[in-house]
Amino acid sequence: MSGLHINATKSSIYASGSNVSDLLSTDESLGLRAGTLPIRYLGMPLTTKTLTAHDYEPLIDKIRGRMLCWDDTKGSWIWRKLLKLRDVAYSYFRMDMRDGISCHFWLDDWLGKGRLIDITGAVGTLYLGVQRHAKVSEVVSLENWNIRGRRSRRFHELYNAIMAVPPPQPGNGRDVILWRHSDDDYRDNFSCKNTWDQLRVKRPKVDWHRVVWFPQDVPRHSFMTWLAIKNRLSTGDRMRQWGMIQGCKLCGERDETRDHLFFACPFAYSIWEGPARRLLGNGVNPDWQ
Ligand SMILES: [Zn+2]
Repeated sequence: MSGLHINATKSSIYASGSNVSDLLSTDESLGLRAGTLPIRYLGMPLTTKTLTAHDYEPLIDKIRGRMLCWDDTKGSWIWRKLLKLRDVAYSYFRMDMRDGISCHFWLDDWLGKGRLIDITGAVGTLYLGVQRHAKVSEVVSLENWNIRGRRSRRFHELYNAIMAVPPPQPGNGRDVILWRHSDDDYRDNFSCKNTWDQLRVKRPKVDWHRVVWFPQDVPRHSFMTWLAIKNRLSTGDRMRQWGMIQGCKLCGERDETRDHLFFACPFAYSIWEGPARRLLGNGVNPDWQ
């Protein structure tokens, strides 16, 4: 239909379920090879079972590597926006350096002092003789730290701080990412809720919050109600500032405002009055306030 064809030499077919043999026999007629799971895709095993955290590790390592090393002039618009948030993200995790294999010497906070590159600037790589993208495990030789700068006065304090830490060893186990749960509390699990609570600006609870957000709400209805309460619906009066002229489609009133639609508009009110009266009794009032 679209004019696209499957390249049979580059494709395999995988099937699961009860009628596997039927499916495979029809598809072998297309010239496709039948493969068996598991295979690896993007470095991860592709199976019919649920992947474990361990299975995701190669992919996460790859993404972490890119987040740390990429400059924000490349990639899509949304990717560049994400990269611009790195400085915010850095303060929410640090590394518990053990074998030093996945831990970046300059770009990860593994010494408890923040990112070393932020302390020294780019010139630090020359002073300490460690490449910008080196892993901590690569800065060791014969089980000792292999850095320059012992006699340099410039980064003496940093040099001593590194020397005071035992160098990474393969037997120590894998490096662990620690996530900030509160100011001084770092743990090895990431909590979305907790991180959001640290990021957001807290304001006092509004008295109408239960009208909008409650258990079993329909999210899109809650969202619309929230917009209405904040008076951010794209009503005619608000669209006018964007150069779009639209009155009330229901009664012809020139100013289509939130208060008009809910429910000063004679047409809207005549429809809603009935159901509202059933729910609320005689206290129904077309005023928004
Ligand atoms: Zn109207």
